Amino acid sequence: KQYTADEIRSMAQAEQVAFLRLMFTDINGIIKNVEVPIDQLDKVLANKATLDGSSIDGFVRIEESDMLLYPDLSTWLIFPWNSEHGKVARLICNIHMADGTEFVGDPRNNLIRVIKKMQAAGFSSFNIGPEPEFFLFKLDEKGEPTLNLNDNGGYFDFEPVDLGENCRRDIVLELEKMGFEVEASHHEVAPGQHEIDFKYADALEAADDIQTFKLVVRTIARKHGLHATFMPKPLEGINGSGMHINMSLFQKGQNVFYDPETKNQLSQTAMYFLNGLMEHARALTAINNPTVNSYKRLVPGYEAPVYVAWSGKNRSPLIRVPMSRKQGTRLEMRSVDPTANPYLTIAAILDCGLQGIKEQKDPVAPVNRNIYTMTEEERAANQIDDLPSTLHNAVKALKRDPIVIASLGDHIYKSFVDSRELEWSAYCQTVSSWERKQYLKRF
Ligand code: GLN
Ligand code: MG
Ligand code: MG
Ligand code: MG
Repeated sequence: KQYTADEIRSMAQAEQVAFLRLMFTDINGIIKNVEVPIDQLDKVLANKATLDGSSIDGFVRIEESDMLLYPDLSTWLIFPWNSEHGKVARLICNIHMADGTEFVGDPRNNLIRVIKKMQAAGFSSFNIGPEPEFFLFKLDEKGEPTLNLNDNGGYFDFEPVDLGENCRRDIVLELEKMGFEVEASHHEVAPGQHEIDFKYADALEAADDIQTFKLVVRTIARKHGLHATFMPKPLEGINGSGMHINMSLFQKGQNVFYDPETKNQLSQTAMYFLNGLMEHARALTAINNPTVNSYKRLVPGYEAPVYVAWSGKNRSPLIRVPMSRKQGTRLEMRSVDPTANPYLTIAAILDCGLQGIKEQKDPVAPVNRNIYTMTEEERAANQIDDLPSTLHNAVKALKRDPIVIASLGDHIYKSFVDSRELEWSAYCQTVSSWERKQYLKRF
């Protein structure tokens, strides 16, 4: 809802809000916030709250560190849980330069830029339905996360209610209090693993929702003595956590991915959009799977994609076309994991799809059989490429793809690559226990 400044003032007063959190997201997808007491509300509403940008990863150099927070008034929300010192509300902000111009290094501003491009191309909304997965681990006496899971449940299990189940219900209730419409919530395949799906929203709102969601999940888990993690592969030998992204493009209230006249009831526009995703899939991986650990999930055998392929039948490929049609017609990108910065991921996916629509090329044929049992020759014959196998390879693919680079804009592209290369080189200097076990005695 688009609130006015006056409505916000009166809601703050009526609910006796004591603190205001001004939230934004850095390039690595980490939620940051500046907390101010409520007597600063007028200053905030006048776009005068400041931020030292030099202290934020990927923002600005020290000599231009003063930045402004412009609150998006539609994001006003009072956190439902009680805090010791009174109620806390939040506003999600866009970052502006001291002179008032938009800061191009802000992922949220960048997403808004790509949304405007979509509107200029004649579309009204890009609807996103995310499926975030996470693990719940027990906390130790010091409040530090352990690697002990809180249950032995499995997919859609009806086991006696355990800690995880209770905690998940609580999360769902809190989300609903905050206006989320939770569509599904279930135990995932791995023990201790859960998924909560909420109703699709337009691109910007969906990205905001994903960030808020992670905050709520972690906050409520703590209250249950648990640590919620969105790390893609916290434990070896069992499934990792993904964040499938369901998407559809709308024009004047109609889903333009749907066409009852075609064989698969997908429109030509949907096919072009799909081709855009397929052609840029390798470079998109750096954005969708931005951590070293992301690539421990993208291996065969754990329901996560490894190859660039699409299908309407099969669940294993990178892009799946779920059964639902008419207004629910959509594409599901299954590689994305919850460490992805949702503003960057949604902007990049949308821009690649728009590029596909512009180029009007049909995608390669769908692959309806199990890619994992195909030989390398069979994959080659079916034009099935593989996804980058490491962060390093993904960043290399990104560097070679001008379309995906443009979807981020120069500023974000440069700081994103810098930060990812730093992470990769730090990782390369480590020696793991796997290596010692493997080599210490053998050589
Ligand atoms: N956890 C799986 C992944 O890593 C997905 C499982 C599922 O939702 N079918 O993507
Ligand atoms: Mg799901
Ligand atoms: Mg799932
Ligand atoms: Mg899914």
